Amino acid sequence: MQVKVLRGTGQIGGCITEIKSDKGTRIIIDFGEELPDEDNSKNDPLTIEGLTRDSDKKLYDAVFITHSHGDHIGLIDDIKDDIDVYVEKHSKIITDLTGDFTGKGPIQRKTKDFAFNKSIKIKDMTITPYLVDHSSFNSCMFLVEADGQRIVHTGDYRNHGRKGVIFEDTLKKIGQVDCLITEGTTFSRDVEKYETEDELLKDVITVFEQYDDILVLQSSTNIDRLVTFYKAARKTKKKFVEDLFTAWIASSLPISIPSPTHNYRDLSVWISRANEMRKKPSYFHEKYVEPMEFYKRSDHFKDNVCLLVKQSMLSDIKMLKNVKHKFKNACLIYSMWEGYLDKEDMKKFIAEIEKMGIKVEKKHTSGHADARAMKLVEKYLNPKITIPIHTTEKEKAKDIFKTAIDVVDGQTIQI
Ligand SMILES: [Zn+2]
Ligand SMILES: [Zn+2]
Repeated sequence: MQVKVLRGTGQIGGCITEIKSDKGTRIIIDFGEELPDEDNSKNDPLTIEGLTRDSDKKLYDAVFITHSHGDHIGLIDDIKDDIDVYVEKHSKIITDLTGDFTGKGPIQRKTKDFAFNKSIKIKDMTITPYLVDHSSFNSCMFLVEADGQRIVHTGDYRNHGRKGVIFEDTLKKIGQVDCLITEGTTFSRDVEKYETEDELLKDVITVFEQYDDILVLQSSTNIDRLVTFYKAARKTKKKFVEDLFTAWIASSLPISIPSPTHNYRDLSVWISRANEMRKKPSYFHEKYVEPMEFYKRSDHFKDNVCLLVKQSMLSDIKMLKNVKHKFKNACLIYSMWEGYLDKEDMKKFIAEIEKMGIKVEKKHTSGHADARAMKLVEKYLNPKITIPIHTTEKEKAKDIFKTAIDVVDGQTIQI
């Protein structure tokens, strides 16, 4: 087989990888947007001959998506209609909801679902998806087999989250591969071990114990983290109140995920009264606001609460503080990547929160592999060649993966 990284050997996000068999079967793994840089100069339309809508020929047989983060799935509507695109069911639901809430809209094109551990045949190629731990629900890695060779594309992964327990078993099951294509987000961070989600929970509980009310700023699609905060709220007897977007994401996932529709006695939803929400089109109100009205519980605010918030909810927070006299002894837990704190709108939001006398604490653990997780991949998959992607410091790959090679975008690597 041959591997060609079309984009992503020197950047985090927007990675696109082509794998081709000797007989000419060609697939793409991931087709997402680049993460915005400071001047937002990236994300000009991307043209790939035989793959994107603007080309006449069809050169690719299928596209496989590892998970629902925009830097992996965000461009799939640009793929030609006659190419099959495989997206796991829940990843599609999350992407569609995110599109509806951000205004980008849901996925327009047809996609095909797949099941974990069940192989898909594309001509002479066999692709097997495996569930992997990451900060996006039901993320996967792919084993690609053809020409008597085996390639693993990890997607984004870690093993310190709630699905980390299956990590070693999955790697053992896959066994030795000829080529490993691995994410290397943390090569530049030099982290031997990240705090696990359960260690974070203990940490978070100590904060919950110090304050009556807790506000949480986290990504709504980070379900592991949602569970962490829900557990902390239960433990410290606070009512758990989800913002509308989080409530929809959680309600659309399996019943074990805490959401007002799954566990409605314990949980409720806060429907923002901010202008941003009021100005949404009427279809949005019918589809997303009205069905959740039933799960609002104003009596929950008579108790101590853990309220999930968005930056757009600043006016709601002020109202709760000034009119309902909440948040006298409150803390906002910032639980996302620290880099977002440098953005102007985030700085303003945090400043406003502090102005209200609400303390701010950072509690977070990464969605990406630490060195220990990567060493396990090296140990069990024992690859003959390792191609690092999704990294800004690929030269550091050799510190962990002894067979790492130096690759540039567009280079063909014969396996
Ligand atoms: Zn990513
Ligand atoms: Zn990701």
